[in-house]
Amino acid sequence: MQLSIDLTGRDVLVTGADFAARQAVRRYEAAGAVVYRLSTPHGAGHDGPLPEKPFLVAAVDDGQPGWEPLLDRCRAAGIPVAAEPAAGPAGHVTLVGGGPGTTELLTVGAVKALRDADVVFYDRLAPCQDLPSLTSAELVDVGKKPGHHKVSQGDIEKLMVESALAGNNVVRLKGGDPYVFGRGGEEVASCVAAGVPVRVISGVTSAISVPAAAGIPVTHREVSHMFTVVSGHAPLTEKEHQHLAGLGGTIVVLMGIGTLHQLAAGLRRAGMRADMPMAVVERGYRPGQRTTVADLGTITSAAAGCSNPAVLVIGEVVRVAEASRGHAEAAADLDRLAASLLGS
Ligand code: SAH
Repeated sequence: MQLSIDLTGRDVLVTGADFAARQAVRRYEAAGAVVYRLSTPHGAGHDGPLPEKPFLVAAVDDGQPGWEPLLDRCRAAGIPVAAEPAAGPAGHVTLVGGGPGTTELLTVGAVKALRDADVVFYDRLAPCQDLPSLTSAELVDVGKKPGHHKVSQGDIEKLMVESALAGNNVVRLKGGDPYVFGRGGEEVASCVAAGVPVRVISGVTSAISVPAAAGIPVTHREVSHMFTVVSGHAPLTEKEHQHLAGLGGTIVVLMGIGTLHQLAAGLRRAGMRADMPMAVVERGYRPGQRTTVADLGTITSAAAGCSNPAVLVIGEVVRVAEASRGHAEAAADLDRLAASLLGS
């Protein structure tokens, strides 16, 4: 059961050894409580006076014996005692895939890692608006610095490693999946090189979820039995255009708005049909989500006003979405017709 209580200005006594209690202390402070500490059950280990009757006792399970009699006395005095998990071991980095930008698509592992973090370094594409409700950690935007200069990849890695070496549980929150055009491999390598323990929590990649937001399945029985995910960061070579055009499956392009023109022209030169369906899905799962459907021959002009972040989809699966949209619209028409007939 989860219960929300307004703790603003309330006295909360957090019990448990410092190493285990630091995250609970931060959570209660972030909730506006006046936090008092008791780090040993024998009364020692607190700074200043303790409140006579705290509103709540947050009992952190630090694995040490001797807390129960004290907590029993609190309960007997009518003070609620909330059990709190101990903080994890300090000084490691967790690379977390944040999904395409909605908390709905965060994994349970991502939510847990955020909750347990001391510091979160996040990107623009991660679900960053919701971070204050998911963690009480210090939040550091490394997507943009004041003046709109990006923090360089090298500097991000240095910041992460230094923070972990200082004893923090560091979360590096990235959009989508850390290993899909996310430079996750480089960040893992720099942690390993510095002797910092590191783990990776996979995320829902935009390559699959953003087309899905527009109703486009990347594979569909008898339509496409493969999909290829390509970076459009730099224009492809002629050879790559030929490979892609020859595959016959779905092509998904990330970071492809800037090179859309070259891609469409290149695929045409490689022999792909001009009427191959194509979609541009902008800002998936975010306000202003928009889908532009055209075909290979017309996409450059149809998508002239499109901007990043966007996912491009090339292939017959785009028509599957169109067909099911048509189906959904027909069903809605029938519902409206039925409602008006019943109403009259
Ligand atoms: N690691 C990420 C991709 C990083 S590259 C992942 O797995 O999703 C950044 C590109 O991802 C953007 O240029 C865009 O093509 C795509 N992208 C990420 N989030 C998106 C969103 N919400 N809507 C549309 N495209 C998105």
